[in-house]
Amino acid sequence: MALTAVKGFNDILPDESGRWQYIEQTARRIFERNGFGEIRVPVMEKTELFCRSIGDATDIVEKEMYTFTDKGENSVTLRPEGTAGVMRAFIEHKLYAQDPIAKLYYLGPMFRYERPQKGRYRQFHQIGAEITGVHDPLADAQVLNMLTAFFREIGLTEPALQINSLGCPECRPAYRTALQSFLEERMGQLCDDCKRRFVTNPLRTLDCKVPGCIEATVGAPSMLDYLCSGCNDHFSSVRRYLDLSSTPYSINSRMVRGLDYYTRTTFEMVTGMLGSQSAVAAGGRYDGLISQLGGPAIPGIGFAMGLERIALLLGSQEFVTLPDLFIATMGGADRDVAFCLMEGLLKSGVRVEMDYEGKSLKSQMRRADKLKARYCVVIGENEVSSGRAAVKRMADGLQTDTALTVAGIQLLVNNPQ
Ligand code: ATP
Ligand code: MG
Repeated sequence: MALTAVKGFNDILPDESGRWQYIEQTARRIFERNGFGEIRVPVMEKTELFCRSIGDATDIVEKEMYTFTDKGENSVTLRPEGTAGVMRAFIEHKLYAQDPIAKLYYLGPMFRYERPQKGRYRQFHQIGAEITGVHDPLADAQVLNMLTAFFREIGLTEPALQINSLGCPECRPAYRTALQSFLEERMGQLCDDCKRRFVTNPLRTLDCKVPGCIEATVGAPSMLDYLCSGCNDHFSSVRRYLDLSSTPYSINSRMVRGLDYYTRTTFEMVTGMLGSQSAVAAGGRYDGLISQLGGPAIPGIGFAMGLERIALLLGSQEFVTLPDLFIATMGGADRDVAFCLMEGLLKSGVRVEMDYEGKSLKSQMRRADKLKARYCVVIGENEVSSGRAAVKRMADGLQTDTALTVAGIQLLVNNPQ
């Protein structure tokens, strides 16, 4: 039987990887401009890290984690998200001792045992960014503006920013109780998951995609009416900063997140184009997480965006790099000249292809077309002896007599048309 990849794990083939690189490069450029440095952490951590950070009663920990016992009888887990590992490293290496304000970004694969469908896979990729050590809502606004800038610069105008506040350990319990009494009266309409979550994680019902639960929660109390004065002021300031920087957003008071560590500001970039896989990026403040993991009482805020969903939204735009020049030969000593010219041009940064197989001139020309080379040159005895050749621009057939040197070809192919 032929071997195939594991279900929900995808290959990214060369004709798609250009799009991925474009996404990654755009993110790196924007994040680095904002003062973020890359951190690379392992794809596997001790299981306990995720139980303690994401929360035992969340979907991720309850049913989506790839957890194994290794040969040393330790329970390990393939990371389902990035923040926990980044904060573990921040604490372990005492980065806060140098400077409690750290601006970190990461990218790489994440793993969740979910039902695969369009935009939802078992191995998927995230790019995320985190700021530690800042209570000021200015940090929230900078993070949101950076996310907005990313989508604008990558050319996607459709995902819209939604924000909410989830309060803090001081004000959330009262809201939780109010929501529970509301849900108690509608218990019959809730799905089995939400019935089970009623005690452990009732807020999650607001995010449930089952139609009965969506209906049952119409008119549910809003967290925003329960915010304590500190959380209320914080949320107003975030909004004021967003208004000051003309960043478009809307408030979605039903937005909750599937991870327990969030406090105060939470947000999503939402699209209508991927069915129920509507969130392309999501994040929020996690003021209690670092101390919960054994570090100092330092706040944090961050987000993660899903590369697969961004790649789907970018659609089939061309991101492959095409050759500048195809060198065809007549198959004699001219192949050596062509080879040396190709090597010289490659070293100087020109993208060159040539025939590998000693094929006929006609089939070499077919290959030049297939590779979509911008220019093509045929090198034969005459060209070798004169040191000049007619280089053809493939788009319109225009031929230019050019010196067969690195400098001569470079001048031609680098000239704006
Ligand atoms: P969803 O509600 O779609 O399950 P989530 O709330 O679980 O998303 P987060 O944990 O906040 O998502 O992760 C941030 C981003 O990572 C999401 O907005 C999405 O773009 C992406 N993402 C999450 N899970 C998957 C997955 N299984 N496959 C592909 N992308 C994913
Ligand atoms: Mg999920």
